[in-house]
Amino acid sequence: MRIALLYPELLGTYGDGGNALVLRHRARLRGVKAEVVSVAIGDPIPAAEIFVLGGGEDGPQRLATDALRADGSLAAQVDAGSRVLAVCAGFQILGRRFAIAGGADYEGLGLLDVETHRGARRRVGELAVIAGDRTLVGFENHGGETTLGAGLTPTGSVVVGYGNDGRTDGARLGNVIATYAHGPVLAINPWLADHILEAVLGRPLDPTSTSAERLHERRCAQVVHSRSRRP
Ligand code: GLN
Repeated sequence: MRIALLYPELLGTYGDGGNALVLRHRARLRGVKAEVVSVAIGDPIPAAEIFVLGGGEDGPQRLATDALRADGSLAAQVDAGSRVLAVCAGFQILGRRFAIAGGADYEGLGLLDVETHRGARRRVGELAVIAGDRTLVGFENHGGETTLGAGLTPTGSVVVGYGNDGRTDGARLGNVIATYAHGPVLAINPWLADHILEAVLGRPLDPTSTSAERLHERRCAQVVHSRSRRP
């Protein structure tokens, strides 16, 4: 299994490259051969089962968008079955357009029917999202606010933090999962890493009981605790 980490020099500000390492680690834990290929700006995008896009600041985010557009092969691979995990700037890049500091709009790749506007203030802090029967925890740090087109499903409902708009976080469409959660999100939500791997492998994976599961449970308990202290 090949996991392509796209432009870590541009989209590595928040440590989201760790998501690729977690996918590789959890695949190998189950005896699945997996490699991470870091794709530098200007390199052709290789064939891969999973693409990982991370967060970044506005300038690098634009450069990454330009490079993805110039390469042009991501959408076709996603159509053909490759999976994508996109975090924050990575999420915004996949949308129709995103605002950059100063207010100008920038055209995204249009893989997701979302638009990102400049919010009233930067959203920085803990993020917790109820995603079906799971809780997704992480932290967020972004100035953009994202509106989902009709028919697009978010990853879940925000219970702590802001996400897209104070109510929902991220988006899911076909093979693409996008979220505002850093962490790296797969390191502290191992269930989500396994969900992506299971989709690629087309079979359920044996559950594991590692420090990652314990860390996730602890974070979830802390979130519940911090909510219960709120007025
Ligand atoms: N530059 C984008 C914003 O501020 C994304 C930031 C990020 O990736 N954390 O909204």
